Amino acid sequence: MIKHILFIVSSIALLISCDLTRTTTKTANPSESTKADVHSYANLKEISTKHLHLELDVNFENRTIYGVARHEMINKGADTAIFDINGLMIQKVTIGEKGTEEEADMFIDKMDKDSILGQALMVPIKKDTRFVNIYYQTTERSDALDWLDTNLTSSKTKPFLYTQGQAILTRTWIPLQDSPSNRITYSADVKVPSDLLAVMSAKNPTKKNNEGKYHFEMNKPIPAYLIALAVGDLSYHAFSENSGVYAEPELLSACEYEFDAIPKMISAAEQLYGPYQWEQYDILVLPYSFPFGGMENPMLTFANPTLLAGDKSLVSVIAHELAHSWSGNLVTNRTWNDFWLNEGFTVYFEQRIMESLYGKEVADILALIEFDELTDELTRIKKSKNPEDSKLHLALEGRNPDDGMTDIAYVKGAFFLKTLEERVGRTRFDAFLKKYFERFQFKTVDTKQFISFLNEELLKKEHISFDYPSWIYAEGLPENCIKLQSQRLENMGKLADDFTNGKVSFAPKVTYKWKKVGKRRKKIKQVQQIKFQDHIVQEWQTFIRRLPRNLSQAKMREIDRYLRFSYSGNSELLTEWFILSANCGYVPTNKKEISAFLCKVGRRKYLMPIYEALLLNKSTRNFAVYTFNQTKANYHAVSRKSIEELISETK
Ligand SMILES: [Zn+2]
Repeated sequence: MIKHILFIVSSIALLISCDLTRTTTKTANPSESTKADVHSYANLKEISTKHLHLELDVNFENRTIYGVARHEMINKGADTAIFDINGLMIQKVTIGEKGTEEEADMFIDKMDKDSILGQALMVPIKKDTRFVNIYYQTTERSDALDWLDTNLTSSKTKPFLYTQGQAILTRTWIPLQDSPSNRITYSADVKVPSDLLAVMSAKNPTKKNNEGKYHFEMNKPIPAYLIALAVGDLSYHAFSENSGVYAEPELLSACEYEFDAIPKMISAAEQLYGPYQWEQYDILVLPYSFPFGGMENPMLTFANPTLLAGDKSLVSVIAHELAHSWSGNLVTNRTWNDFWLNEGFTVYFEQRIMESLYGKEVADILALIEFDELTDELTRIKKSKNPEDSKLHLALEGRNPDDGMTDIAYVKGAFFLKTLEERVGRTRFDAFLKKYFERFQFKTVDTKQFISFLNEELLKKEHISFDYPSWIYAEGLPENCIKLQSQRLENMGKLADDFTNGKVSFAPKVTYKWKKVGKRRKKIKQVQQIKFQDHIVQEWQTFIRRLPRNLSQAKMREIDRYLRFSYSGNSELLTEWFILSANCGYVPTNKKEISAFLCKVGRRKYLMPIYEALLLNKSTRNFAVYTFNQTKANYHAVSRKSIEELISETK
């Protein structure tokens, strides 16, 4: 039944759809004992990739990457190598080093219609086989790839491509063992159109070359989800010897201004938890369809252009992605059930960087804004069909690991560490964290290992008792959670109340005062007004959140007239304001602005709550569905799918 011949004629194989390709009687059923990760088919305990070399030809006309994935593997005597694939067309598999390759058999497991994991690609091998090469191409079902037409880029003349691998999408553009539990080094030879530049999560070129051929090396071991590629009309600006930013030329000067604190952030982070281990730290600003605020691809953070607020008010996202160079990239969650080890630590670390640069008051304000969001998330999860999702350690078998990307991992995780810090004292806690990053650097770690390290290196050693199980293994928020306070945010809450009750207005208040000038008395005009620039964006967010959900249209108009929220360049603020607009029936007034925002921005954090608020209000539901249908082609698959679910859930 094993047919060499089918795969020799690659043009035939290419015409066969993935689902039909070589289904055989053999099915991938890796037994539990050999499974290192419930979200991967790979038999990592028997055979694992050590180094991956990619040969990629990026074709914008066909929206296809034609590739060869050359796996150099550590084989502990396996007779089969199992890889993850999803939405890929496999042409052939060969065994042996380049130049001495021999074509091999392969089996592709039939894909279930609702499969989250994709398919297992099984290659029978000899006990001493070390090199497995997979020839393939991507398809329109390669969800990691976002191919952008010229109209979705800043230049409007050049197309763009970027990848998003986390959590289990790398297998949709590269056939590999797609589990964070295995770290690999990689290299790549990438061919792109000669007017575009290719960059990867690796050592990068800063200029285009005439051939459009680029070579990349990542010689530190990373998990598969951190392999990333972007291709576009990119320019580079250096902030320092080891940091800089890539962006389309139209955005570059805005990036220079917005992100100039990066060198300071790097030194602050190094002072906290040890040297930066990745040589270079660059940022790549992507087009607007990017579904996340940032993605911590090593050496090259992918960032959302909504961070270019013009006032540096959203740089905490950069602090976050930089912090991932330690938590996540250096020390990686072993499975997606341990995702909080990546994100909780990173949010904690991010706030420490912000505190170093901008002071404790600002760091506390940022933490409180997120705590607010956590409170909402906890309420949502409690009512959902998976209330156990509010535990830090998750049980996501049979589910999409993206289900775990909630504020629990991020904010509950960070508050766990903040509470622990308060309990043991900052000096001891920092020493502990520094040691944690040292001990597990370039390794993966799971929740159990973290707990034993916590006991060994901190709690037992210092004779401190701390109720960590209720944080990690229990639902909701433990009693002992640290309580933060910010006078500035309390004042904003009071301002919102006073405004609602008619005690405060944003209109200018003119008064006259007589003042003695020389021998004469002069009438001086004085204007008093609460101005937007009197407060930081996060304070205004608190102000909006505190307003009643049925605020009168007159009051909404007054805010817009004097504070100009509907026309803000800050996406965080716009999101809060548009949610309130949907809640209190203000949408007829700022429909144009909401529609423009939803059509431009693809970041899920903003799209989801705005769509949700619009969908839940009968009078704006049709507007939301219409806008989504008009613009969904511009969203990344990650955002598109989330909104589709939201539409059906809110029916
Ligand atoms: Zn993160």
